[in-house]
Amino acid sequence: MRSIRRGDTGPAVEEIQSILVGLELLPAVADTFDGATENAVRAFQQSRGIGVDGLVGPETWQALDGARWKLGARTLYHSVPTSLVGEDVRALQERLLEMGFDSGRADAIYGPRTARAVAQFQREVGLTPDGSCGPQTMKALRRLGRKVVGGRPQWLREAEAFRQSGSSLVGKTIVIDPGHGGAEDLGVVVPDGQLRWTEADLVFDLANRLEGRLLAAGMRVHLTRGPSPVQPMTGQERAALANSLGADLFISLHLDGQESPAADGVATYHYGTGNGLTSTVGERLANLVQREIVVRTGMRDCRIHAKTWELLRLTRMPAVRVDLGYLTSPTDRERLVDPAFREQVVEAILAAVQRMYFPVEADVPTGSIDVRQLRLALASRNA
Ligand SMILES: [Zn+2]
Repeated sequence: MRSIRRGDTGPAVEEIQSILVGLELLPAVADTFDGATENAVRAFQQSRGIGVDGLVGPETWQALDGARWKLGARTLYHSVPTSLVGEDVRALQERLLEMGFDSGRADAIYGPRTARAVAQFQREVGLTPDGSCGPQTMKALRRLGRKVVGGRPQWLREAEAFRQSGSSLVGKTIVIDPGHGGAEDLGVVVPDGQLRWTEADLVFDLANRLEGRLLAAGMRVHLTRGPSPVQPMTGQERAALANSLGADLFISLHLDGQESPAADGVATYHYGTGNGLTSTVGERLANLVQREIVVRTGMRDCRIHAKTWELLRLTRMPAVRVDLGYLTSPTDRERLVDPAFREQVVEAILAAVQRMYFPVEADVPTGSIDVRQLRLALASRNA
């Protein structure tokens, strides 16, 4: 077979060009094998470790042919004696490597090492570990997205277990953790004339309201403490309680405080090291809680943050801590001491919890869930 080269025309040239277009190496298919095509072939050869000559000979052709395959278009498996080769295999290998499964170099060849890595992934997400990549394995790969990095498969398990628990709130267990509590641990305290506002009391009130709303939506709800516990509780104790209850979600409520009255706004925290290692489900919950609160209340958005706090690290379910404004800020305080405002915050958290259980493709815009409908939906279910 003569190499296809600059100046050639015909269907083979068009086919080569269309593959190069698919790889985004060439802007469009042209009539002839022109300079742009030659450059694209060179770039392709370089990326595949093939001798860079700008000619399409048998080796380059084979690689181009494999490049047609988009991941998911065919079932991949370890075939003997001729291995499957293609762009889809490379994409799979890169995905596995990103997630911390050792598939070796991303060489686009589905060899035994790739099959082993696939089987390992399948075991982690509860699929039959047959080492071949068919529709089910593809679905699991897609769902877990690109965010999981650093070879910590427990986050994969967490995400998968969460998805498998289904989209209804009914019967799910949630632990609400009002921060602080007890005479010795009031959290942030701000005097106000004859009165004084304490973080411990306000977050307990919020937890109490939230409990009512979540119960009405059909969830099992536990608070980590009562209104005035005898002893202060550590983060470890709160996490242990949630673990022993087998909770599906954990939400800790705090207020913030600072010397400067100018600091205000809401922030949400999830488990993560800050350099890529993160609980993806926890991060999603944090995002939803944060966005719903900001959109529904107009509080300042102090964003979400990854933390390794005991409470987030030791809980074995998606867990977040929300700091619902600064008690030391006159703006935030004025709102927080208003029960109607606290009710708004509670509705925002309820909407976020509901959205956690919507499949990602059925998610709705922030602020759009009418939380009163959740109770109606439950009532019609039970009717
Ligand atoms: Zn606090």
